[in-house]
Amino acid sequence: MEKQYHCSFKFEQIKEKFGGLRVYYALTDIDREKVHEIHAHLNALTDLIQRISLTTCEITGAPGKLYTKGWHRVLCEEEALKLGYIDLPPSAVS
Ligand SMILES: [Zn+2]
Repeated sequence: MEKQYHCSFKFEQIKEKFGGLRVYYALTDIDREKVHEIHAHLNALTDLIQRISLTTCEITGAPGKLYTKGWHRVLCEEEALKLGYIDLPPSAVS
């Protein structure tokens, strides 16, 4: 089922933290009755973007995971080897 909402949407900030993306947005001109519903949809979307960013190689877009060389990056195995990154133990990810 398709729903339509009226509001103005703006990305405030998109940044990388521990290899994953963090997305911040701002809404204006929202229908007050729908504000919680709209935020619920957008929060689900930004959570999804965050999860996908942790499993997508930032260079090639291939399936990837977190590697480290001091600095954390999400890479496929091939890029990780090429750039000298090593596996990040799952316990190191909070
Ligand atoms: Zn890659």
